[in-house]
Amino acid sequence: MTQHAVQAYLPHAAIIWGGSEEERFRRALSLAAGRVCSEGTGVPCGVCAHCVKAMKGIHPDILIYDHSAESRLFSVAQVRAIREDAVVMPNEADVKVYILRHADSMNAAAQNAFLKTLEEPPRSAVFFLLADSPENMLPTVVSRCAKICVAPEAAPECGKLAEEFAAALTGGALPLAEFSFRLDRLGRDELRDFIGQARALMLARAQQQSAMAHRFIRAYDVLGKALEYLDFNVGVVHVSGFLCAALLDTP
Ligand SMILES: [Zn+2]
Repeated sequence: MTQHAVQAYLPHAAIIWGGSEEERFRRALSLAAGRVCSEGTGVPCGVCAHCVKAMKGIHPDILIYDHSAESRLFSVAQVRAIREDAVVMPNEADVKVYILRHADSMNAAAQNAFLKTLEEPPRSAVFFLLADSPENMLPTVVSRCAKICVAPEAAPECGKLAEEFAAALTGGALPLAEFSFRLDRLGRDELRDFIGQARALMLARAQQQSAMAHRFIRAYDVLGKALEYLDFNVGVVHVSGFLCAALLDTP
């Protein structure tokens, strides 16, 4: 699989939520480094010129925005400025990464202004929105973003499930069916977290095990579809059943 193929599968917008603002910001910086990295895998290699600049906080294509100090709100004017900037080509990397700290301080008008950018995302722009919780944001905005939870208590549990999912995926029909029963017992938010972590893991595995890459990429797509169903309020049991059935169909 080529580098560009991996980039094409990475979301152009994500809400990074849970944990503390500092944890969210650190995760956003690391993800941003992964996007500008010349290896193009979505994970920072840590040694290329792009990664080094990203880690020093001086990469010209990683732009950090915060709400205005006076109003303590992300203003419509700020959002418009970001939209205008996002259509301008990157300086050095293949993408420009926008990190919006305290994105949940946008009022409805600012979020609606931002929604236009999410609906027609500029080809070379990626947005990371930092928020206490996706629930603080308009559902129309949330539905167009991947969700990445940094809460320490939520992450290991769903991370472990994601590992088991990867194992089931390569283990045949029975492990997959058994796995889908385990998903049935999750709450909606847990299932959402699991899907987020499992998708990230699928991309990593596709890189590591190129012979199985098509299977992991297919799982990544199916998980994305499952996430859409969740957003449309389809029940957890139906979503996990769909996951299992769709993946069993994969050659
Ligand atoms: Zn790099």
